[in-house]
Amino acid sequence: MSERGSTDFPIAIIGAGFAGIGAAFRLKQEGIESFTMFERAGEIGGTWRDNTYPGCACDVQSHVYSLSFEQNPYWSRRFSEYWEIQDYLLGLVDKWELREHLQLNTEIVNAEFDEAAGAWTLTTDGGETFTARVVLAGVGGLVDPAYPTIDGMDDFSGEMFHTARWNHDVDLTSKNVAVVGTGASAVQVVPTIAPEVAKLTVFQRSAGWVVPKFDTEYSARAKRLAVRFPFLLRVSRFLKYWLSEILGPLVFLDSKILSAIGTWLSKWNLRRQVKDPELREKLTPDFQFGCKRVLISDDYWAAFERDNVELVTEPIDAIQREGLRTKDGVLHAVDVIVLATGYLLGLAAAPFRVVGLGGRSLAEAWEKGAVAYKGMTVSGFPNWFIMMGPNTGPGHTSVLVFTEAQIEHALQAIKKMMTEDIKYCDVRQDVQDRYNEGIQGRMKHMVWASGCTSWYLSNDGKNHSLFPGFAWEYVLRSRRLHLADYQVAYFEDERQLEEVDTAEEGLAAAP
Ligand SMILES: Cc1cc2nc3c(=O)[nH]c(=O)nc-3n(C[C@H](O)[C@H](O)[C@H](O)COP(=O)(O)OP(=O)(O)OC[C@H]3O[C@@H](n4cnc5c(N)ncnc54)[C@H](O)[C@@H]3O)c2cc1C
Repeated sequence: MSERGSTDFPIAIIGAGFAGIGAAFRLKQEGIESFTMFERAGEIGGTWRDNTYPGCACDVQSHVYSLSFEQNPYWSRRFSEYWEIQDYLLGLVDKWELREHLQLNTEIVNAEFDEAAGAWTLTTDGGETFTARVVLAGVGGLVDPAYPTIDGMDDFSGEMFHTARWNHDVDLTSKNVAVVGTGASAVQVVPTIAPEVAKLTVFQRSAGWVVPKFDTEYSARAKRLAVRFPFLLRVSRFLKYWLSEILGPLVFLDSKILSAIGTWLSKWNLRRQVKDPELREKLTPDFQFGCKRVLISDDYWAAFERDNVELVTEPIDAIQREGLRTKDGVLHAVDVIVLATGYLLGLAAAPFRVVGLGGRSLAEAWEKGAVAYKGMTVSGFPNWFIMMGPNTGPGHTSVLVFTEAQIEHALQAIKKMMTEDIKYCDVRQDVQDRYNEGIQGRMKHMVWASGCTSWYLSNDGKNHSLFPGFAWEYVLRSRRLHLADYQVAYFEDERQLEEVDTAEEGLAAAP
């Protein structure tokens, strides 16, 4: 290791969700301790700290939706609830002794690259600065709630909150509750709260395709076996992962045959849960299967068969003191409004002011849409590695498969920089452009481009969110660092230049 070795090589991890925690662990495992993890909230966990709404759970099987290097034999069910995932993450932080690297309640609000020093200066919300040779940005892709703009929102006299900021002080028992939105959070929250509320009114803008979840509890025996024979856990993960990959084309390829299979499955799910044909009609989507996120639930549609649940398809006109008024003039009086309206798309936007080479900001670089080489590095922003960046979201399997590949890529860059006296690595513009042309070129074969509007699409109409293919392909292409893809600046070059300058000065001064 060079003189700019581990202690001299500060690394910043921004965010302490799955990505930040996974990166911290891998650094530690490689014997690199010179990192600090900044987290703006008061605890680690990211998604699984913030989303505590009733019914909140992962929709990729837990054996796959967990870190490959720390598998958990104790998952209580196939799709674990939020608290169990948060417990898992808290356990990892303690087990790996990551707290000593953690700065909670510290938001990074600005980052500027110093080319001469080959380092980033990060500024916190408290005005402190921190110098990092490498930044691993694990700020999440679906982290900040998206609030709708509806006339009169401030006039409502009851309680109103977003699913991602659930207000546990509000007791919903025997209350009239409205849920606005019918996406991935709504399909979890609606069937969970329906039995306890007096009346539940669900406001639907567009229906989604819902496939069965086949969720089940793991028996005590299954868990004991997984503890006793860890290879069984690995086999289970392997099979579940490959099942998700095999089924992947159903939800990402634009294929009439595959869409027909998905549509059939979803309609079967609808038929077995809803008997009323008129209600079924209202709950049937009018876009191609897979174009918007496919939802999974065993009991969402069945909730609408309950006497106390009403589906409203008339658009909301305004919110007023007593409740929500729809465009047909009907007032739906409620005590509580739950906004299940999703998240701001963080993976295709600069998280805060990030200024790279030549004073150019990331927001400027992404003005015409977010692009990054393999979703990780952006030309002009050296030594900055994004975890969950543009075009790294999977439609069909665990995000963490992508995250782990990104961590490995960054780790290899860090090790190279530490051992070879590299000042910075900046991905080559031509390499980045070629990669993104390939990604966008494939998008036209993806079902997301089949004509619906969805949160996958950015303002430029392009999909900068999802990876158009299998996760294994992304992993194979991304987990290895190819230094030739990067413009590499060495400290050594400068030293040699300085020596040449000094020698020339010496010559000039010679009599
Ligand atoms: C309800 C829900 C369910 C989901 N279910 C699944 C699933 O089943 N399968 C799947 O693959 N994916 C799922 N996802 C996607 C999920 O976001 C990812 O799987 C994963 O949790 C992302 O981890 P992360 O660490 O990248 O980001 P996050 O978990 O979002 O963590 C980012 C962290 O960064 C912190 N942060 C942000 N900005 C700053 C800053 N400027 N300074 C300091 N800290 C900052 C945040 O506070 C947060 O703690 C789900 C998402 C949601 C919202």
